Amino acid sequence: MHVRASYLLSCLVTAVAAEYDSPSSSICDALASALPNSTFAPETTTYNASISSYPFAQSRLHPTCIVRPQAAEDVATAVRLLRKSRGTKFAVKGGGHNANAGFNNIEDGITIDMQSLNRVEHYADVARVGAGALWQNVYDVVGKRGHAVLGGRIGVVGVAGFVTGGGISHFSPERGWACDYVVNFQIVLANGSIVNANATSHPSLFAALKGGQNNFGVITRFDLKTFLHGPVWGGRIVYAPQVDTALATAFTDFKYNQSVHPETYDPYAAGWVTFSYNQTAKAFLNAAVLWYTKPEVKPGALKDLTSLGPQVMNGMATGPVGDSTRNASMAVKASPPNRRTIWATTTFRITPTIVHSIHTLWKSLILDLYKTYPAAGFVPELTFQALPPPPRNSTPPNSLGFSPTSTPEKDLVFLQVVFHHTDGNATTGLTEKLKEFVNLFDGLAEEEGVKSDWIYLNFAAGFQDPLRGYGEEVLKRLRKVSKRYDPEGFFQRQTAGFKLWKGNGTDQHWW
Ligand SMILES: Cc1cc2nc3c(=O)[nH]c(=O)nc-3n(C[C@H](O)[C@H](O)[C@H](O)COP(=O)(O)OP(=O)(O)OC[C@H]3O[C@@H](n4cnc5c(N)ncnc54)[C@H](O)[C@@H]3O)c2cc1C
Repeated sequence: MHVRASYLLSCLVTAVAAEYDSPSSSICDALASALPNSTFAPETTTYNASISSYPFAQSRLHPTCIVRPQAAEDVATAVRLLRKSRGTKFAVKGGGHNANAGFNNIEDGITIDMQSLNRVEHYADVARVGAGALWQNVYDVVGKRGHAVLGGRIGVVGVAGFVTGGGISHFSPERGWACDYVVNFQIVLANGSIVNANATSHPSLFAALKGGQNNFGVITRFDLKTFLHGPVWGGRIVYAPQVDTALATAFTDFKYNQSVHPETYDPYAAGWVTFSYNQTAKAFLNAAVLWYTKPEVKPGALKDLTSLGPQVMNGMATGPVGDSTRNASMAVKASPPNRRTIWATTTFRITPTIVHSIHTLWKSLILDLYKTYPAAGFVPELTFQALPPPPRNSTPPNSLGFSPTSTPEKDLVFLQVVFHHTDGNATTGLTEKLKEFVNLFDGLAEEEGVKSDWIYLNFAAGFQDPLRGYGEEVLKRLRKVSKRYDPEGFFQRQTAGFKLWKGNGTDQHWW
């Protein structure tokens, strides 16, 4: 009641400011009346806590109100009211770790923050995971019975965005995409009904949700396959500055060998290499985050990467996967609170030279960029990593666009270009630079004839188009599912993200 009272007071203040007739404030009235204990106005403690839970400063936007559902039925109520409003924009937040401003929060609209739906229950070999859970919650619960899941490699990341965008886990080289370990999605559709999508009930929706993210509904629960798993060997290695070319070579050899000798593919070897630059030290930093999920036979295909030196720090250790994800979270939580992060990604076929060419070009571009943004708190990163195998044999299909006979896990590598910064005035200029970098890197891949159209949605920039990267066939299928489950295009029109239809040009909205 207290919340409702303060909410109404705030509405009154808003009304005095002559904004009472804006669609989002009237829908907030309706939400507060239908969900009095779950609707929060600006400046309430819960509202402020929600905003500060976003890891990146650019995501801390200010919606007219925030709904924090306590149950799937609350989500259904919110969806019905939003749909009735015909036009009020809203955002859905899982763990809030997508870096694209506007995807998981909104200025002047309504944000549905799923964080209270974070219950994790483990039965036999299935974990029932509320859509607001973070991966650390899941590892901690299933780890009590010696089980693991295909989850995030950093515990603070949310389950919902991660899984619906694909999801790359420690176990992915062996077991595939995290979304392929979902056995059931509980989801609120555009008409407010709550349905279960799985291999036998709504199978087309089930496939669409594995890669289609927020285009079909608001997921309220994920049922994830779990498996018995012992400790993994892994951690972070920081190499001396002079090791940069050798690190690029070691990563290339690791991937290229698997591409030309597929029989050498090592399903237990996972990780990435990251190049960054420290402006204070005026030095490039080279690091790898690596795992071998069978510690008794480590390091397998990681040998060249783990033995490369000189090393400045070696954090490789054996322990439960949940320990590794917790440790990795600490570094993320230690980031400056005013940090803004923008990212983009692209994919290419591995060759002996492509990683080197991109890395060399990146180094020269970065040094130039520092001259333009000397005081923006700019920290650039370039990361290379492998893709998981597609679902094969009896695993139900996903929508990521790889055929069961393709071998992206052996042939392809994707990169992430990340620009951290602390000055919001630099974001627009840096975003333009990010686009330019990706175009230049794509140009190098095209020159070698190895560019892939595939774009990993979970690291794609807002200006990229990962759904089209899945291929025409998949896009057609996803659109068909959207028309069936959301005939008025509610999730196309009223919430942001990577959408199935674009708003202009030849790719018109169809409604
Ligand atoms: C520190 C860090 C580590 C990462 N590590 C990995 C990694 O190991 N492997 C990997 O593959 N990716 C990784 N990522 C990328 C990550 O998968 C994406 O950022 C993902 O979107 C995060 O999920 P979230 O729930 O936190 O996202 P959010 O930002 O909350 O949401 C992302 C998108 O999903 C939609 N969404 C959220 N909840 C729902 C819901 N309930 N129903 C429907 N749509 C919803 C949102 O509307 C939004 O468009 C990492 C990112 C960061 C920042």
